Amino acid sequence: MNDTRISLLVDQIDTALRELADVMTDPTSLHFETDHPQFERLERSLEQKSGIDAAFAWAADMHHAGGKVGSSRSTDYLVQRLGLSRSEALTRLQRGRALFDPPSGSPPPPAADETEQRAAAARARREKKAQAEARRKQASAEKRRIIDSALEVLHEDADPGYHELLNKALTYSEFHAVDHLRDWIREQVRLANLAVDRLIRHNIAFDKRRISFSNPDANGGIHVHMYLPSDAAAVLSEAINPARSQLLEGSDLQVDDPLTWNQRMVNLLVAMCRDFLNTKTPNLKGVGSIVVSMTMAELENMSPGDVFPTNTGHLVDPFALIRLGEATSDFFVVHGSGGEPLHADTGKRTTSLRQRIALFASELVCSAEGCERPMNQCQVHHILPHAQSGPTDIANLTQLCWGHHRDNNDLRNPLSPFGWADRDPHSGRVGTRRDASSPVHVNDSPAAARSGGAKIRARYPA
Ligand SMILES: [Zn+2]
Repeated sequence: MNDTRISLLVDQIDTALRELADVMTDPTSLHFETDHPQFERLERSLEQKSGIDAAFAWAADMHHAGGKVGSSRSTDYLVQRLGLSRSEALTRLQRGRALFDPPSGSPPPPAADETEQRAAAARARREKKAQAEARRKQASAEKRRIIDSALEVLHEDADPGYHELLNKALTYSEFHAVDHLRDWIREQVRLANLAVDRLIRHNIAFDKRRISFSNPDANGGIHVHMYLPSDAAAVLSEAINPARSQLLEGSDLQVDDPLTWNQRMVNLLVAMCRDFLNTKTPNLKGVGSIVVSMTMAELENMSPGDVFPTNTGHLVDPFALIRLGEATSDFFVVHGSGGEPLHADTGKRTTSLRQRIALFASELVCSAEGCERPMNQCQVHHILPHAQSGPTDIANLTQLCWGHHRDNNDLRNPLSPFGWADRDPHSGRVGTRRDASSPVHVNDSPAAARSGGAKIRARYPA
């Protein structure tokens, strides 16, 4: 298809949707009895958008679309030019790969007999055929999400394989409601996984074990997501069995109000964790506090290569100090010239400590514009490269996540599509410059603004 044809089609869609939106600014004018079938038709028609999106994401990836926005990643292109969230961009790319990348499956083991080899070859042929069929089928984004998520736990050697099940699910979704589709595809995945040895399947759950914490929601609450193999789930559920909550009687966690079953489980879990931390780290003021010991001289002359001892036995460098958390008053023990501990909250020395920390904390996340990667996923980057005599001191250092570090145009080559990290001469902050004549864009993403660094910066303006 040539450019003119696509342009023409998009024009038609754009015009039609604008006119329809215009009509619908007054829904009272709608003749519902006669018009409703048209809207049902519209809904079916727009289902094709998610297939188009996946195909376009795949094409963008093939053409290294990241280069259009100064990045090596296609997700950055989709986020910036299409206005998508990062997760939606990733979803579209994954969907595109499922539909257009050649199907992969593990080859038969070297010792496979002729029957096994024939079966593997037949399965590979079925996968390829199913993928080609799936490309022509339509389902709404909502139905595709359900199918994608169910197929995530399909074993790579399951029978039917990924593409056969995807193709079947797309067919099923055409004639069935969302909730039915969810139940149906889960059952199909379970049955397909039965073809794989039971022992291997047990290990899959073990290998995929994970725990993650969400960002705080509007109430400040955190979602904790866990995926556990069944034995670990059994241990956990028995440990927080609400029938045992009488153990909390007399403890800080006991409250008079009647608690729900779920609240009791949370109380038990927290009580156990607290107990564990108190037993393991007996001399701390707060749960999980890390105590760092340093001298005044070390503090005044802190350089990136320094390491300081901590109560946990780990040696930490100045960047790790920031990663450990916001600098609270019980965080550091600073020793005077005689070795006597100086409380971090006293006099002139406190200001000095905080200013020093502010320098390190000035970027608690990656310094690239808009990036939210925290410092523990960042690398220290020399703004002027070491090879060009760039010194290893704070004025010449910044934090970049691995992705932005890789894309940094160290040599400032004007022909490269990538920009580079540079210090803004006005604010003194480090950000990204697209080319020598562009301004420095600093990172004011919500994560950067939330950081301890931003708070300290506000308290001690340069
Ligand atoms: Zn970054």
